[in-house]
Amino acid sequence: MIDTQRAVEASARNGAPVCEFPDGDSRFLYVCVVQPESGNPIEVLEDLLQQARGLSARTRVRSLGEDRGYRLEDATAVVIGHPATLDPVPLEAWMRRRLASGTSLKCLSREGPLALAMAISDRVGCAPGRTRYDRGPDGRVRVEAFELHVAEHCNLRCANCCNMSPLVARHFLSIAEVKTICSRMAGAVVADVLKIMGGEPLLHPEIAAIIEVLRSSGLGDRVRLFTNGLLLPSMPDAFWEALDEMTISNYSSAPLKPRVLQMARDRSRRHGFVLNVKPVNEFSQVLSPRFESDDGKTRKTFARCWLKHRCLVVRQGRFYMCTRAAYADDFLHHVAHQEPPAGTTLDRSGDGISIDDPDLPGRIEAYMNREEPLGACRYCFGGDGEVEPHYQLTRDDVARGVLSRALS
Ligand code: SF4
Ligand code: SF4
Repeated sequence: MIDTQRAVEASARNGAPVCEFPDGDSRFLYVCVVQPESGNPIEVLEDLLQQARGLSARTRVRSLGEDRGYRLEDATAVVIGHPATLDPVPLEAWMRRRLASGTSLKCLSREGPLALAMAISDRVGCAPGRTRYDRGPDGRVRVEAFELHVAEHCNLRCANCCNMSPLVARHFLSIAEVKTICSRMAGAVVADVLKIMGGEPLLHPEIAAIIEVLRSSGLGDRVRLFTNGLLLPSMPDAFWEALDEMTISNYSSAPLKPRVLQMARDRSRRHGFVLNVKPVNEFSQVLSPRFESDDGKTRKTFARCWLKHRCLVVRQGRFYMCTRAAYADDFLHHVAHQEPPAGTTLDRSGDGISIDDPDLPGRIEAYMNREEPLGACRYCFGGDGEVEPHYQLTRDDVARGVLSRALS
């Protein structure tokens, strides 16, 4: 059995480029990237992290014989190898803000230029190290992530949008609604990362104020906004000043202009927020028009599903472990689908929990630990959906209730 920490340290010290499963064991992807050119060390590190993200993406990992991506959030050990002349403190501080709280991070000096090495855990089934959800001393359930969809509609129409944005009506959460959700949920859960998502959150006219509400909610340790970036050039200073973290999904079917990305980088340095730019050129299929009658297959999909740990959301007054369950009714309303066979009913009553439940923390603890699939899992691919190149749907596709042309 490989000693993960020692292997990553050796890789960072050695500085040889690596992207592999040693001994064919796909539980950990080992990556090492090196930047021969010198430059501003933080900018070099930023570039190395971007390279590591590219190497761990599903498209690249497929060449190693595994058809799934590995995420930096699942890195268990990260080591920065730096020349002895460089002060590691700012490098470590910069990297720490970009890693999950449980990731071990170390700097060591090496001969040669900056190198970044990491071991990224397989995320199928459950998050690294998590076997069950428990309530802490404050009575709250610690979760990896919790998201709010502050604008459900979007200015793009991506096929296989996880949140059904092309199919749902224009809808904003008001500041009062955000405050109510935060106050109810903050008594029941605490999230490593609080995600502001959509739809496209920048469409919300009060997005800067919403960021502030979430930051002071006590519901999460970090607040991260996700955007397709199209509206960034028109955002006011108040928005940039409010940000803690921002992830830009740069879609191949609607790519951002280089000057917009550069402006976001400049703003990130000026205002001190964490910026991640994620190139996205493919999407997995999300919900299926086919009803899965086989109990064993549904259980397997649920057991392997990583989304139930990362895509927790409140929608329309109910808490869901995944966005697909939250939007399943919209999918079934708009998309032509197979009905359950005669004599079978689709019970979705337990798919979510009312946030007004008097025992919300206890209900959430039991719900997050359940081993029974949700009703929505009958129509869901979980994390195992086929991959399609990223593309935009037409208005006609949307009018016909198409979320994926391959599945229509
Ligand atoms: S940018 Fe695309 S994937 Fe993201 S919410 Fe909009 S339609 Fe969905
Ligand atoms: S509906 Fe089931 S399989 Fe689909 S994302 Fe949610 S928990 Fe996973």
